[in-house]
Amino acid sequence: MSFFQSAERPYIIAGPCSAETREQVLETAAALKGRVHLFRAGIWKPRTKPGSFEGVGIEALQWLQEAKQVYELPVAVEVAEPAHIEAALQYGMDVLWIGARTTVNPFQVQRLADALKGVQVPVMVKNPVNPDIDLWQGAIERFETVGIKNTAAIHRGFSTYNASSPYRNQPNWPIPIELKRRRPELPIICDPSHITGNRNMVAEIAQKAMDMGFEGLMIETHPDPDAAWSDAAQQITPGALLDLLDRLVVRKQHCSDGDKSVDLEYLRQLMDSLDAEIIDLIARRMELSARMGGVKKDSNMTAYQPDRWREIVETRGSHAEKHHLSREFIISLYEKIHDESIRKQLEILQALQKQVKS
Ligand code: PEP
Ligand code: MN
Repeated sequence: MSFFQSAERPYIIAGPCSAETREQVLETAAALKGRVHLFRAGIWKPRTKPGSFEGVGIEALQWLQEAKQVYELPVAVEVAEPAHIEAALQYGMDVLWIGARTTVNPFQVQRLADALKGVQVPVMVKNPVNPDIDLWQGAIERFETVGIKNTAAIHRGFSTYNASSPYRNQPNWPIPIELKRRRPELPIICDPSHITGNRNMVAEIAQKAMDMGFEGLMIETHPDPDAAWSDAAQQITPGALLDLLDRLVVRKQHCSDGDKSVDLEYLRQLMDSLDAEIIDLIARRMELSARMGGVKKDSNMTAYQPDRWREIVETRGSHAEKHHLSREFIISLYEKIHDESIRKQLEILQALQKQVKS
């Protein structure tokens, strides 16, 4: 079993955004001892602008080592340079994590992976700031390729330029779900603190992650959040964290009640046959598109017809609403179907053009 899959889900990681003082580290660890699986603290901080607090550095490794020994809590730090790895291992850090701003850079990730050749330490990889699943998976695989046995992915949301978003980093859930589909054995941990950037929304996102079957949570915890030297708005007190954990409803991935699992199996079979029908219908729709491609060619028309597309968006959107489906959802589905249909028609127009030329 993976290092991160404790007997009881979820695997809980908590601790301050940044280690600030020895007292702050020890006070937080004392309050979390026995209630969380791993203590986190950033000591080298990637900050957006120069002049902000950039972490205490190596000195804080001693405080973390002390917290580990006194409170029997495994400890984790973010590493972004091979020199960070060397220092972290020297001070007995139990787990390392790669920050979102590092995951975006394959050169740097490879340098870090090379520094871990021949070492066995669990590594957690945060998603890159941009929503690129291959970049995220690739970073994890760089560590696995050098022999790291325990890896985990952390979903901390993706950067967007959307002033009206309630989130600091958009939780693009289909991306971690697709990662889980590709790598079923890979533990996925959710970081509601960096997703929300707002302590009032942390519990809601933590619960959502549990409902979606994530293996763990990483939550920033500080004895006096408002006075934190970094990420003040999103940190919660250890007391609030314990309260959040007590209220968390942890759902199982499998059904232990025999009758319910029969019901579920029946519903899944119905869903399988509906999905088969949906695919058959889409195939028939594509055949119609192909025939329309032929007609458009004969009448020398463009594949894309803006008026027709507007009409499709309008009628399909209204039809969706009659069934209490979201208009946006159905339109985005039709955007995909329409794209494919246009691609097919272009293929036909181009194939016919080649025949004419030859
Ligand atoms: C952090 O965990 O404090 C941090 C800097 O996170 P991220 O890399 O997700 O921004
Ligand atoms: Mn932080």
